[in-house]
Amino acid sequence: MKFTEFGLNERLLEAIGYMNYEEATPIQDQAIPQILDQKDLIGCAQTGTGKTAAFTLPILHKIAEKPDQGINTLILCPTRELAIQIDQLIQGLAYFTDATCYAVYGGGTGPEWERERRALSQGSDIIIATPGRLKSHIANGYVDFSKLEHLILDEADRMLDIGFYDDIIQIIGKLPKKRQSLMFSATMAPKIRKLAKEILHDPAEINLAMSKPAEGVTQEVFLAFEEQKDPLVRHILDKHPDYDSILIFCSTKRKVSQLSRFLERKKYNVQAMSSDYEQEERQKVLLSFKARKTRIVVATDVLSRGIDIKDINLVINYDVPGDAEDYVHRIGRTARAATKGLAITFVSPDEMYKFARIEELIERQLEKQAPPEELGKGPRWDTGRSKGRKRSGGRGGSGRSGGKGKPPRGKSGKGRPPRSKNSRRKGKPPQGKDSAQKGPRNASGQ
Ligand code: AMP
Repeated sequence: MKFTEFGLNERLLEAIGYMNYEEATPIQDQAIPQILDQKDLIGCAQTGTGKTAAFTLPILHKIAEKPDQGINTLILCPTRELAIQIDQLIQGLAYFTDATCYAVYGGGTGPEWERERRALSQGSDIIIATPGRLKSHIANGYVDFSKLEHLILDEADRMLDIGFYDDIIQIIGKLPKKRQSLMFSATMAPKIRKLAKEILHDPAEINLAMSKPAEGVTQEVFLAFEEQKDPLVRHILDKHPDYDSILIFCSTKRKVSQLSRFLERKKYNVQAMSSDYEQEERQKVLLSFKARKTRIVVATDVLSRGIDIKDINLVINYDVPGDAEDYVHRIGRTARAATKGLAITFVSPDEMYKFARIEELIERQLEKQAPPEELGKGPRWDTGRSKGRKRSGGRGGSGRSGGKGKPPRGKSGKGRPPRSKNSRRKGKPPQGKDSAQKGPRNASGQ
């Protein structure tokens, strides 16, 4: 569905345009109309489905149409990383509106506590908070939820796993009874159902089952160091001389051009494709690939969704894709329409935790192979969860509403509560066309 069809406020549509969202994702299709319709909602959806925008857009619409003083919306989430992420997305989507938001997640300094206190007592439109920190503020008596209209629990299952149940219930006890409540969770475990019963009123239910790889795809995994990946590609290509239609996915445009040049030098029939290429050039590559004139195409995720090329024999994931949906989409290029296909993924030590998450989400453990002996010893399978993981921690993520790249407190903002209601930001939203965040259907940067 196009975003224009939801009847959203013009200023939001403008920001959506800048974010490069072309069409709503399935969860947005289902959730936005229900939320606009004042329904309580329980949504079963993973990160990466566009669920944050699904609940944020209708809330921002309502705030834009009927501005008011005081905290309008409380979003509870399990971790500071997620709070920062939600905050940043709201900053982008709310860019052309007057809506304000503030993330309350603790760990900061004394002055940070003071800024959170002001946001909570003077009323930022949207508060995103981790339960523990919010509870500490509430205990001090100045938090004013009297104007609250919306409560959102994001990643409710994780909040319960962490042990936030009591905090959540206590916080909800401080909110007006008449409100709209939305709850999102990756699973629908019984404890989630129980919580939903306690806090939601006759909720609409949205269930987005994770897509699973097609039956006909054989999935293989090689554990390889980065420097082993190029020769490993050659090894696989040479092992299957009969395969005449091969797609190789890389995560970055740079890697796409490096690998395609490497293969070209080795005399393979290969072409490259990324968003660096004009539409016309991409079309040419695609036609040549479809016509079996080009044996190998090296591409970023621009090719991973929606394009229907029949009978691809082999997909190689040179890098582990960022989320399971991307993995499913990538390998779904092979074995279309009930044919058989092979999908091979290279996993380097830094990518192991990412691959373990994919396995969790596709609910399947795949056998891990070592590279052939002549390429040297490969790494051991070790998902040490901290390995290679980038943390976005710290206040640096900006707890307050303001353009991305702006320091959390500009000179003029010093000592003031988070962005005044009447201040409109000038210029473009944080995620301009060229820097839109990667998302379910967002080919930007690929
Ligand atoms: P989420 O599932 O909320 O974590 O969203 C994952 C990513 O998808 C974020 O970077 C969003 O900016 C992006 N996103 C959300 N909705 C869309 C859309 N309709 N089209 C493209 N990208 C989107």
